[in-house]
Amino acid sequence: MLEIIRIHNELLGTYGDRGNADVLAFRAKLAGIKARITDIAYPDELPSTGDIYLLGGAEDAAQALSLEAMKKKMALNKAVKKGAVVLAICAGFQIVGSTFISRDETVEVLGLLDVTTAPGTRRLVGDIAVASEFFAEPLTGFENHGGVTTLGSDATPFGRVIAGNGNGVGGVDGAVSGNVFGTYLHGPVLARNPEFADLLLARALGAKNLPASIEVNDELAQRYAKWRRSVIK
Ligand code: GLN
Repeated sequence: MLEIIRIHNELLGTYGDRGNADVLAFRAKLAGIKARITDIAYPDELPSTGDIYLLGGAEDAAQALSLEAMKKKMALNKAVKKGAVVLAICAGFQIVGSTFISRDETVEVLGLLDVTTAPGTRRLVGDIAVASEFFAEPLTGFENHGGVTTLGSDATPFGRVIAGNGNGVGGVDGAVSGNVFGTYLHGPVLARNPEFADLLLARALGAKNLPASIEVNDELAQRYAKWRRSVIK
């Protein structure tokens, strides 16, 4: 049984990123893989036995509470050491970075990605398209954040920004290290770009691709993505 863990949705649910868990469970089922979603509410203990962990976007205050709870046992870091997959969006991405600088303090965050987030000079809001080496076509989503994220020397960007801002510096979006993926794409990103969901599922199964038997009608998602890409340009 593949366990998908949605972390603190009541705190990290502002932008509807909770849908990422539903897309993963749905597509796992289509591929004949048994999966279940476990919601971990703040401040309950996070298990380190999950296969895929999801963190969504939030306001700075909610983000700080979520981080505080996760820092107690560092369960997410333990899970990642065991090979778990993480998808962290926006505030979630900032939480799994190494440093988060707010207007009044500098906080050490979980350290799963070598990135530092600091306040920017304006809010970065709108459509975003990102070309990532993991996919043949650019991914699309929307972003809404004040933080600007700088990559450290151990960080690899998730992708190159084609439209929008992403990290807000260097023309890139997000960061990746092993099975930990951080990005600024809301949408939910896996609903808008189901190929990303399949990549995460394959990673969780330790496979290169999902079982070939998968038969999904992605026509709607693909038509939508095509339209989005054309209007973003
Ligand atoms: N609080 C963070 C920022 O504004 C994250 C926002 C978000 O998750 N959309 O940078």
